[in-house]
Amino acid sequence: MGSRLEDITDIRQKTPGCDEKIHFNNAGAALVSEETLRTQVDYLEQESLIGGYEVAAKYAQRIDQFYDNVAELINANRDEIAFTESATVAWLRVFWAINFQSGDEILCDSTSYASNYIAFLNAQKRFGIRIVLIDQKPTGELSLEDLTGKLSSKSKLISITHMPTNSGLVNPAQEVGKIAEKYNVLYQLDACQSVGQYPIDVRKIGCDFLSATGRKYLRGPRGTGFLFAKKIRFSELSPLNLDLHSAEWISKDTIDIREDARRFETWECNLAAKLGLSTAVSQAVNLGMETIWERVQLLADYLRKELSRIEEVIVTDIGEIKSGIVTFYSNTISTHQLKERFLEHNINTVVAIKSGTRVDMENRSLDSILRASVHYYNTKEEIDKFINLLTQFVKP
Ligand SMILES: *Cc1c(COP(=O)(O)O)cnc(C)c1O
Repeated sequence: MGSRLEDITDIRQKTPGCDEKIHFNNAGAALVSEETLRTQVDYLEQESLIGGYEVAAKYAQRIDQFYDNVAELINANRDEIAFTESATVAWLRVFWAINFQSGDEILCDSTSYASNYIAFLNAQKRFGIRIVLIDQKPTGELSLEDLTGKLSSKSKLISITHMPTNSGLVNPAQEVGKIAEKYNVLYQLDACQSVGQYPIDVRKIGCDFLSATGRKYLRGPRGTGFLFAKKIRFSELSPLNLDLHSAEWISKDTIDIREDARRFETWECNLAAKLGLSTAVSQAVNLGMETIWERVQLLADYLRKELSRIEEVIVTDIGEIKSGIVTFYSNTISTHQLKERFLEHNINTVVAIKSGTRVDMENRSLDSILRASVHYYNTKEEIDKFINLLTQFVKP
């Protein structure tokens, strides 16, 4: 793909939403492809005609392919993958399976997503764990020296964000993996914004658990996500959500828990959406994650460069390497107003509020910022239009 225009034109033609809008809310929910849409609609139609169980049996092999596709995307084994309805559900199922004891420490980064930090606070109240924040380097990444310095016999879990929701930051996931391995501490990675945007190799990263959503950079359907969980860690976990799919009731008083990561699933799920995500994942694999990442960076760098030329605009991204998530504010017009003005011109952006990533936002004295997140199917022309409008909007 690179930035060759004919490929992008083709991809855009196969993405119905590209006709309607300038979509710069890919970190919220990216546009699904025609193929991903059709996969779901066809399946739903079949459900209505044949019956839900009957069509599931007919499609069993294709549904099962989901695990192979995701495994290929992140270089895992298929039995290390679970399908969930969101990244948060994937993350929580593993988090609450950890046998926390009073005094245990969770090391997390300052850009932690609200839902994750809420779980830390919940665990603090329920089990008396301690939340240990890893310092940031001046450039924004979590400090590996500080992480190493804060590890102790009390450290139970390192739980960090790969790419936060509110800036272009990329945390050094692989370096954290080396530390986690050396000190033998559980390592949970929130890869919600990086999967589908950035090449992910769980073997290289060395994480024990990784969670992702379908609807963001993977361009999958809403209400989908997945979990990667390393089997070697299963003996240290007690899943809380066991049902007749994740476990078997083998005698009146005994159960057997599944041997694979699907012990974190539950039986019922949206199979049309699962197939849709499977389609989206294989599209990402076919395009190539290196190629996608290169194109996303190219567009995001261009957008940031153009933004930095507008006097009334302050770009708020941090990090040495920056992702497709671009954030800024203006002193002349509120972020909410900006979002509305863009919407009037068929341009989708989103406001990132303080309570979404409170620690980082407070550290940087930010209240609310506008997030324009680009994907490979966006174009420089779209960015130019965006910049032209913004220049008008921010004029005092
Ligand atoms: C969006 C997001 C989540 C939550 O994903 P859901 O699929 O909505 O549960 C978690 N972490 C980060 C960094 C996110 O951006």
